[in-house]
Amino acid sequence: MTPYSELGKEELLKLKEELTLQYEDAKGKGLKLDMSRGKPAPAQLDMTMPMMDIFTSHADMKDEQGVDTRNYGCLEGIYGARRLLGEMLGVDPEHVIVFGTASLNVMYDSISRSYTHGVMGSTPWCKLDKVKFLCPAPGYDRHFGITEHFGIEMITIPMTAEGPDMDLVEEYVKDPAVKGIWCVPMYTNPLGITYSENVCKRMADLNPAAEDFRIYWDNAYCVHHLYDEEEKQDHLPEMLSMCKVNGKENMILEFASTSKISFAGAGISCIAASKDNLDWVKKSMTVQIISHDKINQLRHVRFFKDLNGIKEHMKKHAAIMRPKFELVLDVLEKELGGLGIGTWTKPLGGYFISFDTMEGCAKAVYQKCKDAGVTLTTVGATYPYKKDPHDTNIRIAPSFPSMEELKQCAELFALCVKLASVEKLLE
Ligand code: PLP
Repeated sequence: MTPYSELGKEELLKLKEELTLQYEDAKGKGLKLDMSRGKPAPAQLDMTMPMMDIFTSHADMKDEQGVDTRNYGCLEGIYGARRLLGEMLGVDPEHVIVFGTASLNVMYDSISRSYTHGVMGSTPWCKLDKVKFLCPAPGYDRHFGITEHFGIEMITIPMTAEGPDMDLVEEYVKDPAVKGIWCVPMYTNPLGITYSENVCKRMADLNPAAEDFRIYWDNAYCVHHLYDEEEKQDHLPEMLSMCKVNGKENMILEFASTSKISFAGAGISCIAASKDNLDWVKKSMTVQIISHDKINQLRHVRFFKDLNGIKEHMKKHAAIMRPKFELVLDVLEKELGGLGIGTWTKPLGGYFISFDTMEGCAKAVYQKCKDAGVTLTTVGATYPYKKDPHDTNIRIAPSFPSMEELKQCAELFALCVKLASVEKLLE
Protein backbone atom coordinates (compact mmCIF):
# COMPACT_ATOMS: atom_id res chain seq x y z
CA MET A 1 0.00 0.00 0.00
CA THR A 2 1.50 3.32 -1.01
CA PRO A 3 0.47 6.16 1.26
CA TYR A 4 -1.57 8.68 -0.70
CA SER A 5 0.79 11.47 0.32
CA GLU A 6 3.55 9.81 -1.73
CA LEU A 7 1.53 9.77 -4.94
CA GLY A 8 2.27 12.32 -7.67
CA LYS A 9 -0.38 14.49 -9.27
CA GLU A 10 -0.87 12.20 -12.28
CA GLU A 11 -1.30 9.16 -10.05
CA LEU A 12 -3.78 11.01 -7.87
CA LEU A 13 -5.80 12.11 -10.89
CA LYS A 14 -5.95 8.55 -12.17
CA LEU A 15 -6.92 7.29 -8.75
CA LYS A 16 -9.64 9.90 -8.50
CA GLU A 17 -11.08 8.74 -11.79
CA GLU A 18 -11.17 5.10 -10.65
CA LEU A 19 -12.66 5.96 -7.26
CA THR A 20 -15.29 8.21 -8.81
CA LEU A 21 -16.42 5.36 -11.04
CA GLN A 22 -16.69 3.05 -8.02
CA TYR A 23 -18.53 5.74 -6.10
CA GLU A 24 -21.06 6.38 -8.90
CA ASP A 25 -21.61 2.64 -9.07
CA ALA A 26 -22.23 2.50 -5.28
CA LYS A 27 -24.59 5.44 -5.51
CA GLY A 28 -26.63 3.59 -8.10
CA LYS A 29 -27.35 0.81 -5.59
CA GLY A 30 -29.92 3.01 -3.86
CA LEU A 31 -28.77 2.24 -0.32
CA LYS A 32 -30.76 3.62 2.60
CA LEU A 33 -28.80 2.82 5.73
CA ASP A 34 -28.25 4.50 9.08
CA MET A 35 -25.05 4.37 11.12
CA SER A 36 -25.73 7.61 12.92
CA ARG A 37 -26.77 6.68 16.42
CA GLY A 38 -25.74 4.06 18.93
CA LYS A 39 -29.00 2.18 18.98
CA PRO A 40 -29.20 -1.48 19.99
CA ALA A 41 -30.23 -3.78 17.14
CA PRO A 42 -33.68 -5.42 17.31
CA ALA A 43 -32.03 -8.78 18.12
CA GLN A 44 -30.50 -7.21 21.23
CA LEU A 45 -33.85 -5.85 22.35
CA ASP A 46 -35.45 -9.25 21.74
CA MET A 47 -33.12 -10.73 24.36
CA THR A 48 -34.81 -8.71 27.08
CA MET A 49 -38.37 -9.59 26.01
CA PRO A 50 -38.73 -12.33 28.67
CA MET A 51 -38.74 -9.44 31.15
CA MET A 52 -42.19 -8.67 29.82
CA ASP A 53 -43.45 -12.06 31.03
CA ILE A 54 -42.53 -11.37 34.64
CA PHE A 55 -45.80 -9.76 35.60
CA THR A 56 -49.13 -11.42 35.07
CA SER A 57 -52.32 -9.94 36.50
CA HIS A 58 -51.78 -12.16 39.58
CA ALA A 59 -48.12 -11.27 40.15
CA ASP A 60 -46.80 -10.36 43.56
CA MET A 61 -46.01 -6.68 43.12
CA LYS A 62 -44.29 -6.19 46.46
CA ASP A 63 -40.53 -5.93 46.49
CA GLU A 64 -38.23 -7.76 48.87
CA GLN A 65 -38.83 -5.09 51.52
CA GLY A 66 -42.61 -5.33 51.24
CA VAL A 67 -43.02 -2.12 49.21
CA ASP A 68 -46.07 -2.23 46.93
CA THR A 69 -44.48 -1.08 43.69
CA ARG A 70 -47.86 -0.12 42.26
CA ASN A 71 -48.31 2.69 44.71
CA TYR A 72 -46.68 6.03 45.52
CA GLY A 73 -43.70 6.17 47.85
CA CYS A 74 -40.06 5.14 47.98
CA LEU A 75 -38.67 8.27 46.35
CA GLU A 76 -35.13 6.89 46.16
CA GLY A 77 -36.31 3.82 44.28
CA ILE A 78 -36.90 0.32 45.61
CA TYR A 79 -34.00 -1.12 47.55
CA GLY A 80 -33.45 -3.99 45.11
CA ALA A 81 -32.97 -1.56 42.22
CA ARG A 82 -30.58 0.59 44.25
CA ARG A 83 -28.64 -2.56 45.12
CA LEU A 84 -28.61 -3.80 41.51
CA LEU A 85 -27.37 -0.54 40.00
CA GLY A 86 -25.04 -0.02 42.96
CA GLU A 87 -23.46 -3.43 42.30
CA MET A 88 -23.07 -2.49 38.66
CA LEU A 89 -21.19 0.69 39.60
CA GLY A 90 -19.38 -0.81 42.60
CA VAL A 91 -21.03 1.47 45.17
CA ASP A 92 -23.27 0.84 48.20
CA PRO A 93 -27.05 1.03 47.65
CA GLU A 94 -27.18 3.87 50.19
CA HIS A 95 -25.27 5.99 47.72
CA VAL A 96 -27.69 5.33 44.86
CA ILE A 97 -30.98 6.96 43.91
CA VAL A 98 -32.93 5.22 41.15
CA PHE A 99 -34.79 7.46 38.74
CA GLY A 100 -36.95 6.84 35.69
CA THR A 101 -36.35 5.08 32.43
CA ALA A 102 -33.21 6.88 31.20
CA SER A 103 -30.25 8.86 32.50
CA LEU A 104 -29.87 11.85 30.17
CA ASN A 105 -32.75 13.68 31.80
CA VAL A 106 -31.18 12.98 35.21
CA MET A 107 -28.05 14.75 33.98
CA TYR A 108 -30.16 17.56 32.54
CA ASP A 109 -31.95 17.92 35.87
CA SER A 110 -28.62 18.12 37.72
CA ILE A 111 -27.47 20.99 35.53
CA SER A 112 -30.89 22.63 35.65
CA ARG A 113 -31.04 22.42 39.46
CA SER A 114 -27.57 23.92 39.75
CA TYR A 115 -28.58 26.66 37.34
CA THR A 116 -31.76 27.67 39.11
CA HIS A 117 -31.05 26.79 42.74
CA GLY A 118 -27.30 26.31 43.06
CA VAL A 119 -25.31 23.32 44.25
CA MET A 120 -25.77 22.54 47.95
CA GLY A 121 -26.36 26.13 48.97
CA SER A 122 -23.93 27.86 46.61
CA THR A 123 -24.98 30.72 44.29
CA PRO A 124 -27.33 29.56 41.54
CA TRP A 125 -25.45 29.61 38.25
CA CYS A 126 -28.12 31.82 36.68
CA LYS A 127 -26.98 34.60 38.99
CA LEU A 128 -23.35 34.39 37.90
CA ASP A 129 -21.88 36.37 35.01
CA LYS A 130 -20.12 33.36 33.60
CA VAL A 131 -20.38 29.61 34.02
CA LYS A 132 -17.94 27.35 32.21
CA PHE A 133 -17.75 23.61 31.64
CA LEU A 134 -14.87 21.42 30.57
CA CYS A 135 -15.79 19.22 27.63
CA PRO A 136 -13.36 16.46 26.72
CA ALA A 137 -13.74 16.06 22.97
CA PRO A 138 -14.50 14.20 20.87
CA GLY A 139 -17.28 13.43 23.32
CA TYR A 140 -20.99 12.76 23.66
CA ASP A 141 -23.01 15.26 21.63
CA ARG A 142 -25.97 15.24 24.01
CA HIS A 143 -23.81 16.26 26.98
CA PHE A 144 -22.68 19.28 25.00
CA GLY A 145 -26.30 19.90 24.02
CA ILE A 146 -27.32 20.24 27.69
CA THR A 147 -24.59 22.71 28.61
CA GLU A 148 -25.18 24.71 25.43
CA HIS A 149 -28.91 24.84 26.23
CA PHE A 150 -28.15 26.59 29.52
CA GLY A 151 -25.76 29.05 27.88
CA ILE A 152 -22.80 27.55 29.71
CA GLU A 153 -19.49 28.29 28.02
CA MET A 154 -17.90 25.06 26.87
CA ILE A 155 -14.15 24.62 26.87
CA THR A 156 -12.83 21.84 24.67
CA ILE A 157 -10.35 19.54 26.39
CA PRO A 158 -8.46 17.31 23.94
CA MET A 159 -8.63 13.58 24.58
CA THR A 160 -5.46 11.51 24.85
CA ALA A 161 -5.28 7.71 24.60
CA GLU A 162 -5.72 7.62 28.42
CA GLY A 163 -8.59 10.07 28.78
CA PRO A 164 -8.88 13.86 28.95
CA ASP A 165 -5.67 15.91 28.93
CA MET A 166 -5.34 16.23 32.71
CA ASP A 167 -2.65 18.94 32.59
CA LEU A 168 -5.23 21.19 30.98
CA VAL A 169 -8.04 20.07 33.29
CA GLU A 170 -5.92 20.81 36.37
CA GLU A 171 -5.12 24.23 34.97
CA TYR A 172 -8.68 25.16 34.01
CA VAL A 173 -10.26 24.18 37.34
CA LYS A 174 -8.29 27.00 38.94
CA ASP A 175 -10.90 29.28 37.37
CA PRO A 176 -13.87 29.63 39.79
CA ALA A 177 -16.23 29.99 36.81
CA VAL A 178 -15.48 26.38 35.83
CA LYS A 179 -18.27 24.36 37.43
CA GLY A 180 -17.92 20.93 35.95
CA ILE A 181 -16.50 18.45 33.52
CA TRP A 182 -18.39 15.93 31.36
CA CYS A 183 -16.81 12.48 31.48
CA VAL A 184 -17.72 9.18 29.85
CA PRO A 185 -14.99 7.24 31.60
CA MET A 186 -15.49 3.75 30.22
CA TYR A 187 -15.61 2.78 26.55
CA THR A 188 -16.14 6.46 26.02
CA ASN A 189 -18.48 7.86 23.40
CA PRO A 190 -17.15 8.07 20.67
CA LEU A 191 -13.50 6.98 21.16
CA GLY A 192 -14.24 3.68 22.87
CA ILE A 193 -11.29 4.12 25.22
CA THR A 194 -11.34 3.84 29.04
CA TYR A 195 -9.74 6.39 31.34
CA SER A 196 -6.48 5.10 32.78
CA GLU A 197 -5.92 4.63 36.51
CA ASN A 198 -3.61 7.65 36.43
CA VAL A 199 -6.24 9.88 34.81
CA CYS A 200 -8.84 8.71 37.36
CA LYS A 201 -6.44 9.40 40.25
CA ARG A 202 -5.73 12.89 38.98
CA MET A 203 -9.42 13.48 38.39
CA ALA A 204 -10.25 12.38 41.95
CA ASP A 205 -7.59 14.69 43.30
CA LEU A 206 -8.57 17.86 41.44
CA ASN A 207 -8.45 21.09 43.42
CA PRO A 208 -11.15 23.19 41.79
CA ALA A 209 -11.46 26.81 42.80
CA ALA A 210 -15.27 26.50 42.67
CA GLU A 211 -16.79 24.69 45.67
CA ASP A 212 -19.72 23.76 43.42
CA PHE A 213 -17.49 22.12 40.81
CA ARG A 214 -18.65 18.58 40.03
CA ILE A 215 -17.31 15.77 37.88
CA TYR A 216 -20.26 14.54 35.79
CA TRP A 217 -19.22 10.90 35.54
CA ASP A 218 -21.52 9.31 32.98
CA ASN A 219 -20.72 5.63 33.31
CA ALA A 220 -23.13 4.62 30.54
CA TYR A 221 -20.93 1.77 29.24
CA CYS A 222 -19.62 0.29 32.51
CA VAL A 223 -20.56 -3.32 31.68
CA HIS A 224 -20.46 -3.12 27.90
CA HIS A 225 -17.48 -5.33 27.09
CA LEU A 226 -17.17 -6.85 23.61
CA TYR A 227 -15.11 -9.81 24.80
CA ASP A 228 -15.82 -12.29 27.58
CA GLU A 229 -12.15 -12.84 28.46
CA GLU A 230 -11.04 -10.61 31.36
CA GLU A 231 -7.77 -9.77 29.66
CA LYS A 232 -9.68 -8.37 26.70
CA GLN A 233 -11.76 -6.07 28.88
CA ASP A 234 -10.99 -2.55 30.06
CA HIS A 235 -11.12 -1.85 33.78
CA LEU A 236 -12.15 1.38 35.46
CA PRO A 237 -11.44 2.28 39.09
CA GLU A 238 -14.47 3.05 41.25
CA MET A 239 -14.45 6.82 41.49
CA LEU A 240 -16.74 7.58 44.43
CA SER A 241 -14.39 5.85 46.84
CA MET A 242 -11.35 7.32 45.08
CA CYS A 243 -12.72 10.81 45.65
CA LYS A 244 -13.64 9.91 49.23
CA VAL A 245 -10.09 8.81 50.04
CA ASN A 246 -9.04 12.33 49.07
CA GLY A 247 -11.77 13.85 51.23
CA LYS A 248 -13.54 14.98 48.02
CA GLU A 249 -16.55 12.73 47.95
CA ASN A 250 -18.85 15.62 47.11
CA MET A 251 -16.92 16.39 43.91
CA ILE A 252 -18.51 13.62 41.84
CA LEU A 253 -21.97 12.82 40.48
CA GLU A 254 -22.10 9.45 38.76
CA PHE A 255 -24.85 8.55 36.28
CA ALA A 256 -25.86 5.30 34.64
CA SER A 257 -28.80 3.47 33.15
CA THR A 258 -29.78 0.15 31.67
CA SER A 259 -30.68 1.73 28.33
CA LYS A 260 -28.16 -0.45 26.53
CA ILE A 261 -28.65 -3.41 28.83
CA SER A 262 -32.43 -3.86 28.86
CA PHE A 263 -34.42 -1.42 26.68
CA ALA A 264 -33.15 1.86 25.24
CA GLY A 265 -34.96 4.73 26.91
CA ALA A 266 -37.12 2.21 28.78
CA GLY A 267 -34.70 0.89 31.36
CA ILE A 268 -33.89 2.18 34.83
CA SER A 269 -31.42 4.95 35.62
CA CYS A 270 -29.57 6.28 38.63
CA ILE A 271 -27.30 8.77 40.29
CA ALA A 272 -24.58 7.51 42.59
CA ALA A 273 -23.11 10.15 44.88
CA SER A 274 -22.18 11.16 48.43
CA LYS A 275 -24.88 11.53 51.08
CA ASP A 276 -24.63 15.33 50.92
CA ASN A 277 -25.06 15.34 47.18
CA LEU A 278 -27.99 12.92 47.36
CA ASP A 279 -29.69 15.07 50.01
CA TRP A 280 -29.29 18.06 47.69
CA VAL A 281 -30.77 16.09 44.78
CA LYS A 282 -33.68 14.90 46.92
CA LYS A 283 -34.55 18.44 47.93
CA SER A 284 -35.75 19.19 44.41
CA MET A 285 -36.88 15.65 43.67
CA THR A 286 -39.51 15.87 46.39
CA VAL A 287 -40.96 18.83 44.49
CA GLN A 288 -40.63 17.23 41.07
CA ILE A 289 -42.12 13.78 41.55
CA ILE A 290 -43.86 11.59 44.11
CA SER A 291 -42.17 8.43 42.91
CA HIS A 292 -40.71 6.97 39.73
CA ASP A 293 -41.97 3.84 37.98
CA LYS A 294 -41.23 1.22 40.63
CA ILE A 295 -42.99 -1.49 38.63
CA ASN A 296 -40.29 -1.16 36.00
CA GLN A 297 -37.67 -1.17 38.74
CA LEU A 298 -39.07 -4.39 40.19
CA ARG A 299 -39.23 -5.97 36.73
CA HIS A 300 -35.54 -5.20 36.24
CA VAL A 301 -34.62 -6.57 39.66
CA ARG A 302 -36.53 -9.81 39.09
CA PHE A 303 -35.08 -10.20 35.59
CA PHE A 304 -31.40 -9.52 36.32
CA LYS A 305 -31.34 -10.47 40.03
CA ASP A 306 -27.78 -9.26 40.58
CA LEU A 307 -24.57 -8.11 38.91
CA ASN A 308 -23.92 -11.64 37.72
CA GLY A 309 -27.27 -11.60 35.93
CA ILE A 310 -26.32 -8.35 34.22
CA LYS A 311 -22.91 -9.73 33.24
CA GLU A 312 -24.44 -12.88 31.73
CA HIS A 313 -26.94 -10.77 29.81
CA MET A 314 -24.16 -8.49 28.54
CA LYS A 315 -22.34 -11.52 27.16
CA LYS A 316 -25.33 -12.07 24.91
CA HIS A 317 -25.18 -8.46 23.78
CA ALA A 318 -21.47 -8.89 23.12
CA ALA A 319 -22.13 -11.93 20.93
CA ILE A 320 -24.15 -9.64 18.66
CA MET A 321 -21.96 -6.53 18.90
CA ARG A 322 -18.53 -8.17 18.62
CA PRO A 323 -18.85 -9.43 15.02
CA LYS A 324 -20.16 -6.03 13.98
CA PHE A 325 -17.19 -4.18 15.44
CA GLU A 326 -14.82 -6.76 13.96
CA LEU A 327 -16.45 -6.47 10.56
CA VAL A 328 -16.07 -2.69 10.46
CA LEU A 329 -12.49 -2.85 11.75
CA ASP A 330 -11.61 -5.52 9.15
CA VAL A 331 -13.02 -3.43 6.31
CA LEU A 332 -11.18 -0.33 7.53
CA GLU A 333 -7.91 -2.23 7.78
CA LYS A 334 -8.32 -3.94 4.42
CA GLU A 335 -9.41 -0.82 2.55
CA LEU A 336 -7.53 1.96 4.32
CA GLY A 337 -4.61 0.32 6.16
CA GLY A 338 -1.27 1.86 5.16
CA LEU A 339 -2.80 4.63 3.02
CA GLY A 340 -2.13 7.33 5.61
CA ILE A 341 -5.55 8.90 5.11
CA GLY A 342 -7.24 7.95 8.36
CA THR A 343 -6.78 6.62 11.86
CA TRP A 344 -9.36 4.82 13.94
CA THR A 345 -9.86 3.38 17.42
CA LYS A 346 -10.19 -0.34 18.15
CA PRO A 347 -12.42 -0.41 21.22
CA LEU A 348 -12.90 -3.39 23.52
CA GLY A 349 -16.40 -2.28 24.39
CA GLY A 350 -19.10 0.35 24.17
CA TYR A 351 -21.01 1.36 21.09
CA PHE A 352 -18.66 3.33 18.87
CA ILE A 353 -15.57 3.40 16.74
CA SER A 354 -14.03 6.81 16.28
CA PHE A 355 -12.48 7.62 12.90
CA ASP A 356 -10.22 10.56 12.10
CA THR A 357 -9.81 11.57 8.48
CA MET A 358 -7.04 13.76 7.10
CA GLU A 359 -7.51 17.33 8.22
CA GLY A 360 -10.45 19.03 6.51
CA CYS A 361 -12.06 15.86 5.10
CA ALA A 362 -14.70 14.71 7.59
CA LYS A 363 -17.52 16.87 6.25
CA ALA A 364 -16.80 15.75 2.70
CA VAL A 365 -16.86 12.09 3.75
CA TYR A 366 -20.14 12.63 5.59
CA GLN A 367 -21.72 14.27 2.54
CA LYS A 368 -20.50 11.62 0.12
CA CYS A 369 -21.86 8.85 2.35
CA LYS A 370 -25.15 10.70 2.64
CA ASP A 371 -25.46 11.20 -1.11
CA ALA A 372 -24.93 7.47 -1.55
CA GLY A 373 -27.59 6.62 1.05
CA VAL A 374 -25.61 6.03 4.26
CA THR A 375 -26.29 8.37 7.18
CA LEU A 376 -23.43 8.91 9.63
CA THR A 377 -23.49 10.89 12.89
CA THR A 378 -23.45 14.54 11.87
CA VAL A 379 -19.87 15.62 11.55
CA GLY A 380 -18.82 18.06 14.26
CA ALA A 381 -21.45 16.75 16.68
CA THR A 382 -18.75 15.15 18.82
CA TYR A 383 -17.38 18.64 19.67
CA PRO A 384 -18.79 21.54 21.72
CA TYR A 385 -20.91 23.87 19.56
CA LYS A 386 -20.80 21.14 16.88
CA LYS A 387 -17.49 22.56 15.69
CA ASP A 388 -14.73 20.09 15.04
CA PRO A 389 -11.70 22.43 14.86
CA HIS A 390 -9.87 20.26 12.33
CA ASP A 391 -12.86 18.71 10.54
CA THR A 392 -11.51 15.20 11.10
CA ASN A 393 -13.71 13.24 13.49
CA ILE A 394 -16.43 10.82 12.45
CA ARG A 395 -18.31 8.60 14.89
CA ILE A 396 -19.11 5.16 13.54
CA ALA A 397 -22.01 3.38 15.25
CA PRO A 398 -22.02 -0.26 14.11
CA SER A 399 -24.75 -1.64 16.39
CA PHE A 400 -28.01 -1.08 14.53
CA PRO A 401 -27.52 -2.25 10.91
CA SER A 402 -27.56 -5.97 10.14
CA MET A 403 -24.21 -7.60 9.29
CA GLU A 404 -25.01 -7.45 5.60
CA GLU A 405 -26.00 -3.79 5.75
CA LEU A 406 -23.00 -2.99 7.90
CA LYS A 407 -20.62 -4.47 5.33
CA GLN A 408 -22.14 -2.21 2.69
CA CYS A 409 -21.94 0.79 5.03
CA ALA A 410 -18.31 0.15 5.96
CA GLU A 411 -17.21 -0.40 2.36
CA LEU A 412 -18.98 2.70 1.18
CA PHE A 413 -17.50 4.66 4.07
CA ALA A 414 -13.97 3.53 3.17
CA LEU A 415 -14.57 4.44 -0.47
CA CYS A 416 -15.77 7.91 0.53
CA VAL A 417 -12.72 8.41 2.76
CA LYS A 418 -10.46 7.51 -0.17
CA LEU A 419 -12.26 9.79 -2.60
CA ALA A 420 -12.44 12.75 -0.21
CA SER A 421 -8.74 12.34 0.62
CA VAL A 422 -7.68 12.26 -3.02
CA GLU A 423 -9.77 15.34 -3.70
CA LYS A 424 -8.16 17.09 -0.74
CA LEU A 425 -4.66 16.21 -1.89
CA LEU A 426 -5.44 17.55 -5.34
CA GLU A 427 -6.65 20.92 -4.02
N1 PLP B 1 -24.65 8.64 28.10
C1 PLP B 1 -23.92 8.26 27.05
C2 PLP B 1 -22.46 8.40 27.08
C3 PLP B 1 -24.57 7.74 25.91
O1 PLP B 1 -23.82 7.37 24.86
C4 PLP B 1 -25.96 7.63 25.90
C5 PLP B 1 -26.68 7.13 24.72
O2 PLP B 1 -26.17 6.99 23.66
C6 PLP B 1 -26.67 8.07 27.02
C7 PLP B 1 -25.99 8.56 28.12
C8 PLP B 1 -28.15 8.03 27.05
O3 PLP B 1 -28.55 7.24 28.08
P1 PLP B 1 -30.08 7.18 28.53
O4 PLP B 1 -30.82 6.41 27.50
O5 PLP B 1 -29.99 6.50 29.84
O6 PLP B 1 -30.57 8.58 28.63
